[in-house]
Amino acid sequence: MNLHEYQSKFRFAEFGIPILKGKTAGTPQEAYEAARELGCPVVVKAQVLVGGRGKAGGVKVAKTPEQAEEYANAILGMNIKGLTVRKVLIDPAANIAQEIYLGITNDRAAGRPVIMASSEGGVEIEQVARENPDAIAREHIDPFLGLLDYQARNLASGINLPHEHWRAFSRIATNLYRCYLSSDSVLAEINPLVITKENQLIALDGKMIIDDSALFRQPHLAEMRDTDAEPKEETQARAAGISYVKLNGQIGCMVNGAGLAMTTMDMTKLYGGDEIGPANFLDIGGGAQASKVAAALRIILADTNVKSVLFNIFGGITRCDEVARGILEALNEVPSSLPMVIRLVGTNSEEGRAIIDNANIPNLSSAATLTEAAKKAVEAARKALAAEKGAQ
Ligand code: GDP
Ligand code: MN
Repeated sequence: MNLHEYQSKFRFAEFGIPILKGKTAGTPQEAYEAARELGCPVVVKAQVLVGGRGKAGGVKVAKTPEQAEEYANAILGMNIKGLTVRKVLIDPAANIAQEIYLGITNDRAAGRPVIMASSEGGVEIEQVARENPDAIAREHIDPFLGLLDYQARNLASGINLPHEHWRAFSRIATNLYRCYLSSDSVLAEINPLVITKENQLIALDGKMIIDDSALFRQPHLAEMRDTDAEPKEETQARAAGISYVKLNGQIGCMVNGAGLAMTTMDMTKLYGGDEIGPANFLDIGGGAQASKVAAALRIILADTNVKSVLFNIFGGITRCDEVARGILEALNEVPSSLPMVIRLVGTNSEEGRAIIDNANIPNLSSAATLTEAAKKAVEAARKALAAEKGAQ
């Protein structure tokens, strides 16, 4: 789960990291009030869950409350990389002398967190890594020892930070690690961490990603979720206990098991080529009761890109005949004329297939192997696309 900038920075502040504490506003009027209370100049910043807001025109310095109102009016409702801005952050403006990057993430290969600093702050770290990898200083953190003082100094020296700022930098790095750890986050990033003309270090932008699997023990972070900022289908899937990620292809995939779901997506891509691929990742988990299948089907069919649906179900403890009945029940609840290919394997698979075939529903067909199922689903999607093109 991603936190907004203001949420991340307020969290940073709880851990002693210096920020310029501003106010959020949902209307130009609120932006005006906030600017008046904080005192100008202020920065008006779009709160959307993407980077590069600055370049997109979503960060503006206002000299008067009137100007803050005017900028808020322009930024609210703005579309930045596909996301609509619903809130702005009004922050006291800083006099920037230098911008630094400081971030912590998990290094899966090393099996431990890594803290990274760069003198090229304000730029996305992925871009620095590509264009100027030497500009990044790194230290791996031993989870039993935590971030050690000498490691923070290594980072400071690695980015040629003037000596006078080492102590403050070290404190921020240590606090960022505490914040990262206590929040069960997979990313905690300050970009830019600025040195002001008054010689202070301040976190000007913040980004945190919280591990979804840890949200049960982070209730007050879980509560910060902005469901406006994610695809509607993903919110619905979470409520139904289904793992779902929306993608851009045409084949809706309904699978039990994450690994099987990945394989299914790969197979549609293998036979679909450049044109056709999976519309989603979806794992309905174990059990596969009719109600869950129906919820999943509703989510898949809400995506208007979907031209065919591929069910790939492995019956282990759940028997395939039960699953087949569940699918028919779900289709009763969520009628659709899209072509659907069903592959059932495992316990009672023959009974399951017979139930599907005997139902005599014209847009349903069963397949014995994943290859056959993927080919059929791709063919159906290809036909539907060609028909659409012909109609235009
Ligand atoms: P991002 O583009 O989404 O990463 O948004 P940031 O919050 O990082 O802002 C982008 C850039 O705007 C920063 O790198 C700064 O150069 C500039 N900026 C942000 N806040 C201030 C401020 O208070 N004063 C000044 N002068 N520039 C700012
Ligand atoms: Mn930034």
